[in-house]
Order: sequence, then C-alpha cells, then structure tokens
Amino acid sequence: MAKIIIHQEKCKGCLLCVNFCPRKLIRKSAKLSKQGTNFVEFIAGGQCLGCSQCALVCPDCCIEVIK
Ligand code: SF4
Ligand code: SF4
Repeated sequence: MAKIIIHQEKCKGCLLCVNFCPRKLIRKSAKLSKQGTNFVEFIAGGQCLGCSQCALVCPDCCIEVIK
C-alpha cells in the first residue's frame, strides 16, 4: 500500500492537495505551524492509491509519495 509523507514545516495550508486527492485522504490539521498556518495531515488508515496527485499539485513540494 502506498503512503505519503507530508513535510508539514513547509506547508502553507493552501489545501490544494486536500481538494485533489481522489480518496479524500488529506485534511487540514487543527494544529498550527510555527508560521501560524494550518498545515495538512494524512488521514491514518486511508487507502492511498499512490497516484501522486497531491504531490504534483503542491506548490511547495511538501509531499513525498512512497510506493
Ligand atoms: S497519492 Fe493520491 S491517493 Fe494518495 S494521498 Fe496523494 S492524492 Fe491521495
Ligand atoms: S498543497 Fe502543499 S502547501 Fe498546499 S496544503 Fe497541501 S501540502 Fe500544504
């Protein structure tokens, strides 16, 4: 099963990845980064397709897909 790693320290919370994930496996975190933005998190237990949509749309290269 594929999975993703989100480099939350770089995430500015634009939510593009949230909107593009076909499985809706990424959500906004309730926590704030040091920059004061809501970063995103992977929903534990989700069935990631490894499609890389989330990584491709991220403007700051915050997401790595592990297949
Ligand atoms: S690789 Fe695809 S299925 Fe997995 S979290 Fe990213 S967009 Fe969603
Ligand atoms: S697309 Fe990148 S910067 Fe935007 S919320 Fe997702 S991980 Fe963060």
